[in-house]
Amino acid sequence: MNVLKSYLTLSLFLLSLLGYSQTYNTYYGSIVNQFSSDTIHKNLVEFESLGVKEHGTPALTNTLNWLIDQYTNYGYTDIKIDTFNYAAQDDYNLIVTKTGTTYPNTYLIVDGHYDTRSGTGTNDNGSGIVTILEVARLLEDVVTEYSIKFINFSGEEDGLIGSTWYVNNTVMPTNMDIKLVLNIDEVGGVNGLVNSTIVCERDQSSPTAANAASYDFTDTLATCVGLYSNLLTEISYAYSSDYMPFQANEHVITGLFEKNQTTYAHTPNDFLINMDTNYVYEIAQASIGASLYFAVAYEPVGVNENLNPLNVKVYPNPVKDILTVDLGELGVNNTKLRLTNIIGKIVHEETVKNKIEKLSLKNLPSGIYTLTIESETNRYIEKIAHQK
Ligand SMILES: [Zn+2]
Repeated sequence: MNVLKSYLTLSLFLLSLLGYSQTYNTYYGSIVNQFSSDTIHKNLVEFESLGVKEHGTPALTNTLNWLIDQYTNYGYTDIKIDTFNYAAQDDYNLIVTKTGTTYPNTYLIVDGHYDTRSGTGTNDNGSGIVTILEVARLLEDVVTEYSIKFINFSGEEDGLIGSTWYVNNTVMPTNMDIKLVLNIDEVGGVNGLVNSTIVCERDQSSPTAANAASYDFTDTLATCVGLYSNLLTEISYAYSSDYMPFQANEHVITGLFEKNQTTYAHTPNDFLINMDTNYVYEIAQASIGASLYFAVAYEPVGVNENLNPLNVKVYPNPVKDILTVDLGELGVNNTKLRLTNIIGKIVHEETVKNKIEKLSLKNLPSGIYTLTIESETNRYIEKIAHQK
């Protein structure tokens, strides 16, 4: 790339940053609005009834099984137990994976611990658990560009043992590509107080390599809270929860933590009656909106020909050589074509110049490809079978 060209590219990049501001997405809003206070409340009651979830107790394994039941009922199939051992007892993280379309190997991690200390832990961290469950429930059949891992860690109260284990034994050896870790811990609010603010936590610790990115994502998180819930936000620093082992490994982290802090954490009285369930409902809406945004959810248009009001045509399919794309009423203005292979790698990308565009697949190996046609308002997706 020559100097002039790199200067132009940089200028365009900066312009695109300047021109960008996040606005309310009606599709995301329609999903956020499906949150169910009944489901969240029921899950809080059930979490509480499972008892004191300390290391090595039947209550902890019963909670693990209860969590597996919830994710299974929501339709998830990639559910893995990650077993570790300390103080001569086995313990278990739960990892639930949803695969993204464009970046299947890059993950948004939405996590929170399910172990508790001295009490049922309905706020610390039943509140985070039911929030994550509600995000998972509503995102199960939503298409996202990035993959998502919903992780319920254990051993948090004993010193971030489960999350440290996971980072050391899964994240590091597989060199996992993590876009962002969103940690949700103790978001139940305090009964009798006005709970109108949520703390968004950023990485202000050493190592500092990911601090700037964490500041950006935390600002974005706060923006999402404002767009998709009625809560106010406050920015503070991340500490002492399951995002920290990721932080130590220079991953980008952010988090949610209650502003009014319960005095019942780690006591036998960390019960639902001491919390503010309306606050949890707001947190859930904020978290659903933020997760949709971070995982880049989108509404597929025209996957089924009968649901293709814009009259987009892609043919022939299967295709040997030249694929014709007729944009129909989608329009040429700023419309982009993108072809990704089976592992989500982009093999061709262009801004469309003509209503009828011809793509040569001559140099691509046979296989299944995903064609994405994207205008400023619509997205059309079709699987293309390429047979040489
Ligand atoms: Zn906690």
